Amino acid sequence: MLTNWAGNIAFRAQRIDRPTTIEELRQLVTAGARVRALGSGHSFNEIADTDGTLVTVAGLPPVIEVDRAASTVRVAAGVRYAELAREVHAQGLALHNMASLPHISVAGSVATGTHGSGVTNGSLATAVRELELVTADGELLTLSRDRDGDRFAGAVVSLGALGVVTTLTLDLVPGFELGQRARTGLPLEVLDEHFDAVASAAYSVSLFTDWHGPRFGQVWLKYAAGQEPVFPWAPEASGPLHPVPGMSPVHCTEQQGVPGPWHERLPHFRAEFTPSAGAELQSEYLMDRRHAVAALHAVDAIRDAVAPVLQVCEVRTVAADDLWLSPSYGHDTVAFHFTWVKDTAAVLPVVRLLERQLEPFAARPHWGKVYTVGADRLPDLYPKLADFRSLARELDPKGKFTNAFLAPVLDGI
Ligand SMILES: Cc1cc2nc3c(=O)[nH]c(=O)nc-3n(C[C@H](O)[C@H](O)[C@H](O)COP(=O)(O)OP(=O)(O)OC[C@H]3O[C@@H](n4cnc5c(N)ncnc54)[C@H](O)[C@@H]3O)c2cc1C
Repeated sequence: MLTNWAGNIAFRAQRIDRPTTIEELRQLVTAGARVRALGSGHSFNEIADTDGTLVTVAGLPPVIEVDRAASTVRVAAGVRYAELAREVHAQGLALHNMASLPHISVAGSVATGTHGSGVTNGSLATAVRELELVTADGELLTLSRDRDGDRFAGAVVSLGALGVVTTLTLDLVPGFELGQRARTGLPLEVLDEHFDAVASAAYSVSLFTDWHGPRFGQVWLKYAAGQEPVFPWAPEASGPLHPVPGMSPVHCTEQQGVPGPWHERLPHFRAEFTPSAGAELQSEYLMDRRHAVAALHAVDAIRDAVAPVLQVCEVRTVAADDLWLSPSYGHDTVAFHFTWVKDTAAVLPVVRLLERQLEPFAARPHWGKVYTVGADRLPDLYPKLADFRSLARELDPKGKFTNAFLAPVLDGI
């Protein structure tokens, strides 16, 4: 049986098609009545599922072409960030940010608005400058930030609804080094006064709590090497840590201020450690950063329900973007991430309760994680949803790329 990475979703497709040329992919798309692209399968819900043709682009040539003059890289959709980062680093360049795990595919991550942390760092999708995709009629369409304005802004965080992406061109920045330090024991009340200062204390800041009390057991600071963060609110950890209390830090990226290249500090987990499956579920909610403190107190109010099914909660920030279905669309964002125990029946009631608590803050659920927010809420959460539906109708009039997860998002296409 085919499942996602976490094993909580069994795909209905009986097999995965793995074309090795664009021509083969075009034929598969043209022939299929229903088609869905699968990335590295790290999403926790049915977003990638189909009862039709499930197709992976991982068999296409793993192009990684760095253009040093333009400071861009053209990358095949199925390449994972770990491989991409190694190659970009070898050329003296860098991606502006990475997610906590580097094993996820570029196209799958971009399609769901995947992000890291940092008040000035947009989601990974904001690096996209150009996309090539095979659309429902089997044609290869190129959309570019410079030439295609609105259509491009609609097509980047696509949820896989517009076609099968084959390559992406991403912006790069000059290579940089970071140090990483963990602080321990930050009381929630410090954030009442200082949330913005804490979130801005380093290039990328993550706050971790198990919600057993109103405090953050760990704060991870990823900062420009040589520029030690000023952080008067919590003491330095005495040794390396894993975000989940009690777990060995052996698979985590280097801490204690040892400087290292960007791609070996931005993810929390090392690329050379390959997690084949995880005993966890995840949910995440993204809100206007102005609501951060009030929303944290709303979660604190139900921590007795949250803590028993939680492994760890991580609070991050994401800079605003203009990508229509991006959970960071339109405002600087705070993201509350929850790694749950792998017990869907026990977790779902808590997810519902959490969603009720966060509703006043117009929390947008992460597209690739567990949530129960109804499609009727989506037009309020995403001001450009109607435009996205029109774009999907235009590129895919018969709903070839739709599945049960997407149908309500697309209003029944
Ligand atoms: C351990 C772990 C850590 C994570 N950490 C983070 C994190 O730090 N930040 C964060 O925001 N998220 C995080 N996530 C969530 C993850 O980034 C998303 O679920 C992401 O979509 C995974 O990429 P994927 O390639 O596995 O996509 P999949 O789950 O395979 O697919 C996701 C969506 O992308 C579409 N898609 C995939 N490939 C293509 C293509 N070629 N063309 C068109 N559509 C395509 C699929 O159809 C589907 O709709 C984490 C997940 C795990 C398991």
